[in-house]
Amino acid sequence: MATLTLDSLEKSFGRTKVIHGVSIDIRDGEFIVIVGPSGCGKSTLLRMVAGLEGVTAGEVRIDGARVNEKEPMDRNIAMVFQNYALYPHMSVFDNMAYGLKIARMPRADIRARVEEAARMLQLEQYLTRKPRELSGGQRERVAMGRAIVRRPSVFLFDEPLSNLDAKLRVQMRLEIKQLQRDLGVTSLYVTHDQVEAMTLADRMIVMNDGRADQIGAPLDVYADPQTAFVAGFIGSPPTNFLPPALLGRNAPDGARLGIRPENLVFGTEGGRLQGRVLNAEPLGAESLIHLMVGDEMVTVRQEGAQRVPGQGEELWLDWDAAHEMQFGPDGRRLHG
Ligand code: ADP
Ligand code: MG
Repeated sequence: MATLTLDSLEKSFGRTKVIHGVSIDIRDGEFIVIVGPSGCGKSTLLRMVAGLEGVTAGEVRIDGARVNEKEPMDRNIAMVFQNYALYPHMSVFDNMAYGLKIARMPRADIRARVEEAARMLQLEQYLTRKPRELSGGQRERVAMGRAIVRRPSVFLFDEPLSNLDAKLRVQMRLEIKQLQRDLGVTSLYVTHDQVEAMTLADRMIVMNDGRADQIGAPLDVYADPQTAFVAGFIGSPPTNFLPPALLGRNAPDGARLGIRPENLVFGTEGGRLQGRVLNAEPLGAESLIHLMVGDEMVTVRQEGAQRVPGQGEELWLDWDAAHEMQFGPDGRRLHG
Protein backbone atom coordinates (compact mmCIF):
# COMPACT_ATOMS: atom_id res chain seq x y z
CA MET A 1 0.00 0.00 0.00
CA ALA A 2 1.53 3.31 -1.02
CA THR A 3 1.08 6.67 -2.64
CA LEU A 4 3.34 7.49 -5.57
CA THR A 5 4.32 11.00 -6.61
CA LEU A 6 6.04 12.02 -9.83
CA ASP A 7 7.19 15.59 -9.28
CA SER A 8 8.33 17.54 -12.38
CA LEU A 9 10.21 14.54 -13.75
CA GLU A 10 12.67 15.19 -16.56
CA LYS A 11 14.96 12.84 -18.44
CA SER A 12 17.70 13.52 -20.95
CA PHE A 13 19.80 11.00 -22.84
CA GLY A 14 22.97 12.94 -23.61
CA ARG A 15 21.74 16.27 -24.94
CA THR A 16 18.36 14.92 -26.02
CA LYS A 17 15.53 15.62 -23.60
CA VAL A 18 12.87 12.92 -23.82
CA ILE A 19 10.75 13.65 -20.70
CA HIS A 20 9.84 17.31 -20.19
CA GLY A 21 8.50 17.64 -16.67
CA VAL A 22 5.75 15.13 -15.82
CA SER A 23 3.88 15.49 -12.52
CA ILE A 24 1.12 13.44 -10.91
CA ASP A 25 0.04 12.51 -7.39
CA ILE A 26 -1.14 8.90 -7.39
CA ARG A 27 -3.41 7.80 -4.56
CA ASP A 28 -3.01 4.58 -2.63
CA GLY A 29 -4.56 1.75 -4.65
CA GLU A 30 -5.09 3.84 -7.76
CA PHE A 31 -4.66 2.33 -11.25
CA ILE A 32 -2.90 4.85 -13.49
CA VAL A 33 -2.34 4.15 -17.18
CA ILE A 34 0.33 5.97 -19.20
CA VAL A 35 -0.85 5.94 -22.80
CA GLY A 36 0.67 7.37 -25.96
CA PRO A 37 2.24 6.40 -29.28
CA SER A 38 5.53 4.57 -29.61
CA GLY A 39 8.54 6.69 -28.67
CA CYS A 40 6.65 9.27 -26.56
CA GLY A 41 8.56 8.33 -23.38
CA LYS A 42 6.24 5.89 -21.58
CA SER A 43 8.85 3.23 -20.80
CA THR A 44 11.42 5.83 -19.83
CA LEU A 45 9.00 7.33 -17.31
CA LEU A 46 8.19 3.91 -15.87
CA ARG A 47 11.87 2.94 -15.67
CA MET A 48 12.61 6.12 -13.74
CA VAL A 49 9.99 5.12 -11.18
CA ALA A 50 11.49 1.61 -11.03
CA GLY A 51 15.00 2.98 -10.56
CA LEU A 52 16.26 1.42 -13.80
CA GLU A 53 16.94 4.89 -15.28
CA GLY A 54 18.40 7.84 -13.44
CA VAL A 55 16.30 10.96 -12.95
CA THR A 56 17.71 14.05 -14.71
CA ALA A 57 15.53 16.49 -12.75
CA GLY A 58 12.54 16.26 -10.44
CA GLU A 59 11.64 13.71 -7.80
CA VAL A 60 9.99 10.31 -7.42
CA ARG A 61 8.35 9.86 -4.01
CA ILE A 62 6.83 6.71 -2.54
CA ASP A 63 4.67 7.40 0.50
CA GLY A 64 6.08 10.91 0.49
CA ALA A 65 9.73 9.85 0.72
CA ARG A 66 12.20 10.65 -2.08
CA VAL A 67 13.52 7.49 -3.75
CA ASN A 68 15.64 8.98 -6.58
CA GLU A 69 18.83 7.55 -5.08
CA LYS A 70 17.39 4.19 -4.01
CA GLU A 71 18.29 0.99 -5.82
CA PRO A 72 15.41 -0.74 -7.65
CA MET A 73 15.32 -3.59 -5.12
CA ASP A 74 14.99 -1.12 -2.23
CA ARG A 75 11.91 0.60 -3.66
CA ASN A 76 9.48 -2.24 -2.93
CA ILE A 77 8.23 -2.13 -6.50
CA ALA A 78 7.45 -5.06 -8.80
CA MET A 79 7.59 -4.76 -12.55
CA VAL A 80 5.90 -6.84 -15.28
CA PHE A 81 7.51 -6.28 -18.67
CA GLN A 82 6.41 -6.79 -22.25
CA ASN A 83 9.01 -9.55 -22.65
CA TYR A 84 8.29 -11.19 -19.34
CA ALA A 85 11.21 -13.58 -19.89
CA LEU A 86 10.47 -16.51 -17.64
CA TYR A 87 13.39 -18.84 -16.89
CA PRO A 88 12.78 -21.65 -19.42
CA HIS A 89 14.49 -24.41 -17.41
CA MET A 90 12.59 -23.63 -14.19
CA SER A 91 9.12 -24.81 -13.23
CA VAL A 92 6.27 -22.36 -12.78
CA PHE A 93 6.73 -22.70 -9.01
CA ASP A 94 10.45 -21.90 -9.20
CA ASN A 95 9.87 -19.00 -11.56
CA MET A 96 7.45 -17.47 -9.08
CA ALA A 97 9.63 -18.29 -6.08
CA TYR A 98 12.92 -17.08 -7.55
CA GLY A 99 12.88 -13.50 -6.24
CA LEU A 100 11.92 -14.67 -2.74
CA LYS A 101 14.72 -17.26 -2.70
CA ILE A 102 17.22 -14.57 -3.65
CA ALA A 103 15.84 -12.52 -0.75
CA ARG A 104 16.47 -15.57 1.50
CA MET A 105 12.90 -15.95 2.64
CA PRO A 106 12.25 -19.18 4.61
CA ARG A 107 11.08 -22.04 2.38
CA ALA A 108 7.73 -22.54 4.09
CA ASP A 109 6.89 -18.85 3.64
CA ILE A 110 7.89 -18.99 -0.01
CA ARG A 111 5.65 -22.01 -0.56
CA ALA A 112 2.72 -20.29 1.13
CA ARG A 113 3.10 -17.14 -0.94
CA VAL A 114 3.53 -18.94 -4.26
CA GLU A 115 0.53 -21.17 -3.56
CA GLU A 116 -1.61 -18.19 -2.63
CA ALA A 117 -0.64 -16.35 -5.82
CA ALA A 118 -1.19 -19.52 -7.89
CA ARG A 119 -4.70 -19.77 -6.44
CA MET A 120 -5.51 -16.18 -7.36
CA LEU A 121 -4.15 -16.68 -10.87
CA GLN A 122 -5.66 -20.14 -11.42
CA LEU A 123 -2.21 -21.63 -11.92
CA GLU A 124 -2.45 -24.29 -9.19
CA GLN A 125 -2.43 -27.23 -11.62
CA TYR A 126 0.54 -25.86 -13.52
CA LEU A 127 3.10 -25.30 -10.78
CA THR A 128 5.36 -28.17 -11.90
CA ARG A 129 5.23 -27.32 -15.60
CA LYS A 130 7.92 -25.52 -17.56
CA PRO A 131 7.04 -22.23 -19.30
CA ARG A 132 7.11 -23.87 -22.76
CA GLU A 133 4.25 -26.15 -21.65
CA LEU A 134 2.00 -23.14 -21.00
CA SER A 135 -0.23 -21.00 -23.20
CA GLY A 136 0.58 -17.32 -23.73
CA GLY A 137 -2.04 -16.27 -21.22
CA GLN A 138 -0.72 -18.69 -18.58
CA ARG A 139 2.82 -17.40 -19.07
CA GLU A 140 1.54 -13.90 -18.63
CA ARG A 141 -0.09 -15.00 -15.35
CA VAL A 142 3.18 -16.52 -14.15
CA ALA A 143 4.85 -13.17 -14.78
CA MET A 144 2.06 -11.55 -12.75
CA GLY A 145 2.53 -14.16 -10.04
CA ARG A 146 6.22 -13.40 -9.81
CA ALA A 147 5.28 -9.77 -9.09
CA ILE A 148 2.47 -10.59 -6.65
CA VAL A 149 4.48 -12.91 -4.37
CA ARG A 150 6.79 -10.06 -3.51
CA ARG A 151 3.85 -8.10 -2.01
CA PRO A 152 5.14 -4.83 -3.46
CA SER A 153 3.78 -1.39 -2.60
CA VAL A 154 3.62 -0.50 -6.29
CA PHE A 155 3.10 -2.53 -9.49
CA LEU A 156 4.67 -1.30 -12.71
CA PHE A 157 3.51 -2.79 -16.03
CA ASP A 158 5.16 -2.10 -19.39
CA GLU A 159 2.85 -3.25 -22.20
CA PRO A 160 2.43 -6.68 -20.56
CA LEU A 161 -0.22 -7.82 -23.07
CA SER A 162 1.33 -6.74 -26.35
CA ASN A 163 2.62 -10.23 -27.21
CA LEU A 164 -0.82 -11.82 -26.93
CA ASP A 165 -3.41 -12.20 -29.66
CA ALA A 166 -6.39 -9.83 -29.67
CA LYS A 167 -8.90 -12.14 -27.96
CA LEU A 168 -6.53 -13.15 -25.19
CA ARG A 169 -5.57 -9.51 -24.68
CA VAL A 170 -9.18 -8.67 -23.88
CA GLN A 171 -9.44 -11.56 -21.42
CA MET A 172 -6.14 -10.77 -19.69
CA ARG A 173 -7.09 -7.10 -19.51
CA LEU A 174 -10.16 -8.04 -17.48
CA GLU A 175 -8.08 -10.35 -15.27
CA ILE A 176 -5.48 -7.69 -14.54
CA LYS A 177 -8.19 -5.18 -13.65
CA GLN A 178 -9.89 -7.64 -11.30
CA LEU A 179 -6.60 -8.68 -9.71
CA GLN A 180 -5.56 -5.07 -9.15
CA ARG A 181 -8.94 -4.38 -7.52
CA ASP A 182 -8.62 -7.44 -5.28
CA LEU A 183 -5.05 -6.63 -4.23
CA GLY A 184 -5.55 -2.87 -4.06
CA VAL A 185 -1.92 -2.26 -5.03
CA THR A 186 -1.09 1.15 -6.49
CA SER A 187 -0.34 0.52 -10.18
CA LEU A 188 1.30 2.33 -13.07
CA TYR A 189 0.59 0.66 -16.41
CA VAL A 190 2.07 1.58 -19.80
CA THR A 191 0.32 0.90 -23.10
CA HIS A 192 0.08 2.37 -26.60
CA ASP A 193 -3.46 0.95 -26.88
CA GLN A 194 -6.09 3.54 -26.06
CA VAL A 195 -8.81 0.91 -25.56
CA GLU A 196 -6.65 -0.80 -22.93
CA ALA A 197 -6.09 2.58 -21.30
CA MET A 198 -9.80 3.45 -21.30
CA THR A 199 -10.84 0.13 -19.78
CA LEU A 200 -8.11 -0.27 -17.15
CA ALA A 201 -7.44 3.20 -15.84
CA ASP A 202 -8.86 5.00 -12.85
CA ARG A 203 -7.00 7.93 -14.40
CA MET A 204 -4.81 8.07 -17.44
CA ILE A 205 -1.82 10.16 -18.44
CA VAL A 206 -1.92 10.87 -22.18
CA MET A 207 1.70 11.33 -23.24
CA ASN A 208 2.69 13.33 -26.30
CA ASP A 209 6.38 13.57 -27.11
CA GLY A 210 7.62 13.49 -23.52
CA ARG A 211 4.86 15.64 -22.07
CA ALA A 212 1.68 14.76 -20.20
CA ASP A 213 -0.85 16.41 -22.51
CA GLN A 214 -3.72 15.50 -20.20
CA ILE A 215 -4.33 13.59 -16.99
CA GLY A 216 -7.82 12.50 -16.04
CA ALA A 217 -10.46 9.79 -15.75
CA PRO A 218 -10.95 8.03 -19.12
CA LEU A 219 -14.45 9.32 -19.81
CA ASP A 220 -13.51 12.87 -18.81
CA VAL A 221 -10.54 12.81 -21.18
CA TYR A 222 -12.73 11.40 -23.96
CA ALA A 223 -15.46 13.97 -23.38
CA ASP A 224 -13.20 16.96 -22.92
CA PRO A 225 -9.82 16.63 -24.63
CA GLN A 226 -7.56 19.58 -23.93
CA THR A 227 -5.39 19.24 -27.04
CA ALA A 228 -5.89 18.16 -30.65
CA PHE A 229 -3.41 15.36 -29.98
CA VAL A 230 -5.58 13.94 -27.19
CA ALA A 231 -8.75 14.31 -29.29
CA GLY A 232 -7.05 12.39 -32.08
CA PHE A 233 -5.54 9.69 -29.88
CA ILE A 234 -8.33 8.87 -27.43
CA GLY A 235 -11.49 7.50 -29.03
CA SER A 236 -11.89 5.23 -32.02
CA PRO A 237 -12.26 6.01 -34.84
CA PRO A 238 -10.26 9.19 -34.17
CA THR A 239 -11.71 12.70 -34.10
CA ASN A 240 -12.18 14.39 -37.47
CA PHE A 241 -10.31 17.67 -37.91
CA LEU A 242 -11.51 20.33 -40.31
CA PRO A 243 -10.07 23.72 -41.24
CA PRO A 244 -12.62 26.33 -40.07
CA ALA A 245 -12.42 27.98 -43.51
CA LEU A 246 -14.26 24.95 -44.92
CA LEU A 247 -17.27 26.18 -42.95
CA GLY A 248 -16.73 29.78 -44.00
CA ARG A 249 -15.46 30.69 -40.55
CA ASN A 250 -12.61 33.04 -39.74
CA ALA A 251 -9.82 31.56 -37.67
CA PRO A 252 -6.04 31.91 -37.46
CA ASP A 253 -3.94 29.79 -39.81
CA GLY A 254 -3.55 26.27 -38.44
CA ALA A 255 -6.65 26.38 -36.24
CA ARG A 256 -8.83 23.29 -36.50
CA LEU A 257 -12.32 22.22 -35.67
CA GLY A 258 -12.62 18.75 -34.15
CA ILE A 259 -15.77 16.60 -34.32
CA ARG A 260 -15.96 12.98 -33.29
CA PRO A 261 -17.32 10.46 -35.85
CA GLU A 262 -20.10 9.46 -33.44
CA ASN A 263 -21.31 13.08 -33.26
CA LEU A 264 -21.82 13.47 -37.00
CA VAL A 265 -25.18 12.74 -38.62
CA PHE A 266 -26.38 12.71 -42.19
CA GLY A 267 -28.60 15.74 -42.59
CA THR A 268 -30.99 16.95 -45.20
CA GLU A 269 -30.01 18.96 -48.22
CA GLY A 270 -28.57 22.30 -47.14
CA GLY A 271 -26.90 20.91 -43.99
CA ARG A 272 -23.59 22.24 -42.80
CA LEU A 273 -21.23 20.45 -45.18
CA GLN A 274 -21.49 18.31 -48.25
CA GLY A 275 -19.31 15.25 -48.75
CA ARG A 276 -18.84 12.45 -51.26
CA VAL A 277 -18.73 8.88 -49.98
CA LEU A 278 -15.30 7.29 -50.41
CA ASN A 279 -16.21 3.95 -48.86
CA ALA A 280 -18.34 2.47 -46.14
CA GLU A 281 -17.59 -0.26 -43.61
CA PRO A 282 -20.69 -2.06 -42.28
CA LEU A 283 -19.44 -3.76 -39.09
CA GLY A 284 -22.75 -5.09 -37.79
CA ALA A 285 -23.16 -3.23 -34.51
CA GLU A 286 -21.95 -0.05 -36.21
CA SER A 287 -21.02 1.32 -39.60
CA LEU A 288 -18.17 3.65 -40.51
CA ILE A 289 -18.71 5.86 -43.53
CA HIS A 290 -15.69 7.71 -44.91
CA LEU A 291 -16.34 10.79 -47.03
CA MET A 292 -14.27 13.43 -48.77
CA VAL A 293 -15.27 16.94 -47.77
CA GLY A 294 -13.21 19.26 -49.97
CA ASP A 295 -9.69 17.88 -49.46
CA GLU A 296 -10.42 16.43 -46.02
CA MET A 297 -11.41 12.88 -45.18
CA VAL A 298 -14.21 12.71 -42.65
CA THR A 299 -15.53 9.61 -40.89
CA VAL A 300 -19.09 9.20 -39.67
CA ARG A 301 -19.98 6.46 -37.18
CA GLN A 302 -23.54 5.16 -37.25
CA GLU A 303 -24.93 2.82 -34.60
CA GLY A 304 -26.68 -0.40 -35.51
CA ALA A 305 -26.92 -2.46 -38.67
CA GLN A 306 -28.36 -0.30 -41.38
CA ARG A 307 -27.98 0.20 -45.10
CA VAL A 308 -24.74 2.03 -45.81
CA PRO A 309 -24.50 4.65 -48.57
CA GLY A 310 -22.76 3.68 -51.80
CA GLN A 311 -19.46 4.95 -53.08
CA GLY A 312 -19.74 8.34 -54.77
CA GLU A 313 -23.03 9.28 -53.09
CA GLU A 314 -23.26 12.95 -52.15
CA LEU A 315 -24.49 13.45 -48.60
CA TRP A 316 -24.98 16.36 -46.23
CA LEU A 317 -23.34 16.31 -42.83
CA ASP A 318 -24.75 17.88 -39.71
CA TRP A 319 -23.89 18.06 -36.04
CA ASP A 320 -24.91 19.67 -32.79
CA ALA A 321 -22.75 22.76 -32.22
CA ALA A 322 -22.23 21.61 -28.61
CA HIS A 323 -20.05 18.77 -29.97
CA GLU A 324 -17.61 21.08 -31.75
CA MET A 325 -14.09 21.26 -30.33
CA GLN A 326 -11.96 24.22 -31.39
CA PHE A 327 -8.19 23.96 -31.37
CA GLY A 328 -5.73 26.81 -31.84
CA PRO A 329 -2.68 26.65 -34.13
CA ASP A 330 -0.61 25.31 -31.21
CA GLY A 331 -3.04 22.40 -30.78
CA ARG A 332 -4.47 23.70 -27.49
CA ARG A 333 -8.21 23.60 -27.02
CA LEU A 334 -9.97 26.96 -27.22
CA HIS A 335 -13.00 27.21 -24.95
CA GLY A 336 -16.03 29.41 -25.38
P1 ADP B 1 7.91 4.49 -25.47
O1 ADP B 1 8.05 3.51 -24.35
O2 ADP B 1 6.80 5.47 -25.28
O3 ADP B 1 7.82 3.83 -26.80
P2 ADP B 1 10.62 5.21 -24.74
O4 ADP B 1 10.47 5.71 -23.37
O5 ADP B 1 11.16 3.86 -24.94
O6 ADP B 1 9.24 5.39 -25.53
O7 ADP B 1 11.56 6.23 -25.54
C1 ADP B 1 11.36 7.62 -25.51
C2 ADP B 1 12.46 8.29 -26.31
O8 ADP B 1 13.70 8.15 -25.63
C3 ADP B 1 12.65 7.72 -27.69
O9 ADP B 1 12.94 8.76 -28.58
C4 ADP B 1 13.84 6.79 -27.52
O10 ADP B 1 14.54 6.68 -28.72
C5 ADP B 1 14.64 7.53 -26.47
N1 ADP B 1 15.45 6.60 -25.64
C6 ADP B 1 14.99 5.62 -24.84
N2 ADP B 1 15.97 4.98 -24.19
C7 ADP B 1 17.13 5.58 -24.61
C8 ADP B 1 18.51 5.39 -24.32
N3 ADP B 1 18.91 4.45 -23.44
N4 ADP B 1 19.40 6.20 -24.94
C9 ADP B 1 19.00 7.14 -25.80
N5 ADP B 1 17.72 7.39 -26.12
C10 ADP B 1 16.78 6.62 -25.54
MG1 MG C 1 8.00 1.39 -24.41
